[in-house]
Amino acid sequence: MTIIFNPKFYQSDYANNNSAKPGRMEAIMQELEKNYSVVTNGTALESDLALVHDPAYINKIKAQPGIYDMARLSAGGAILAAQLGMDGHPSFACIRPPGHHAYRSSGWGYCYFCNMAIALKKLKTEGRIKSVFLLDFDAHTGDGTRDCLSDWKGIRILNPMAATRQEYMKLLETAIKETGHVDLIAVSAGFDSYKKDVGKKLDTFDFYQIGYLLKKFSKRCGHLRRFAILEGGYYLPDLGKNALAFCQGFE
Ligand SMILES: [Zn+2]
Repeated sequence: MTIIFNPKFYQSDYANNNSAKPGRMEAIMQELEKNYSVVTNGTALESDLALVHDPAYINKIKAQPGIYDMARLSAGGAILAAQLGMDGHPSFACIRPPGHHAYRSSGWGYCYFCNMAIALKKLKTEGRIKSVFLLDFDAHTGDGTRDCLSDWKGIRILNPMAATRQEYMKLLETAIKETGHVDLIAVSAGFDSYKKDVGKKLDTFDFYQIGYLLKKFSKRCGHLRRFAILEGGYYLPDLGKNALAFCQGFE
């Protein structure tokens, strides 16, 4: 298991919102650094961003240099995580800003570029993948990711919506069971679905179990290709513990 991170993500002054707030990256990295090796990611190329986003929108973000630099670095982390996952090395990218509310030509919810869509489209453009199972377990629907990948027939995106954690886990198990072979398993990991966070649902063991189910799925596919990237997660006292639990199931 490899963790993707860049110390620049510690800078919390690129934006004034929940996702950019101080302590988020520290909470996660304190736990993960003790357990895994960390690889430093670089920046996505503008041509990578253009695989997903309209030029006019990219220019609009570029006009806010602090945000543009951090968002491009975040996309770079997702790209590296996807490449490692594709090579059979499970990985988790601890990145911000998140991306799953970024559409082709707009963004909301602290998101600017759709990190996940950029990483997956890059692999597809390189001819390395045709089919993907994408789980987004953030408390909020990854509407941006869906928009950015709507022209891709071979991708199955699951945002489980359930009243209880038991139903939630059941939905995930059923979806995995029903899905045949895929070339790659991708995860938008939003820890705001935690019981003490805004989603008020999953507990720490559920994050472990989600990781474990996806690991088993990748074994069933016979290639072990899987990666995850950070989306939301704002309850700092348990954020690191939850990210570690997911990684321990996923590794
Ligand atoms: Zn969220």
